[in-house]
Amino acid sequence: MVDNEDLQRRIETLEAVCESNKRAYVGAVKDLMTMDEKLKKLQDQNRRGRRAIAEIKALHHEYRGPFDEGRYCAHCNQISGTWIPYPCPTVQALEGM
Ligand SMILES: [Zn+2]
Repeated sequence: MVDNEDLQRRIETLEAVCESNKRAYVGAVKDLMTMDEKLKKLQDQNRRGRRAIAEIKALHHEYRGPFDEGRYCAHCNQISGTWIPYPCPTVQALEGM
């Protein structure tokens, strides 16, 4: 038979367990929120990085030589004043990432 003292002890134990679970749950939710914020920042960085790579590749686009069938980099040719084969070192570096 369970007397009032036993019942009170059981209630206190259950309350302590509930409080402990609540703290663990709140901590887990805070951790998830922090990870979600970090994930959003990483996704944003990833998006900006991909956009920058696309812009660089667009700048370093393929150009067919006017006097031959060669493939050259339009941007590298323009800045160097010589014929730089396509894919140029910049495009090769980006594609090697
Ligand atoms: Zn180039």
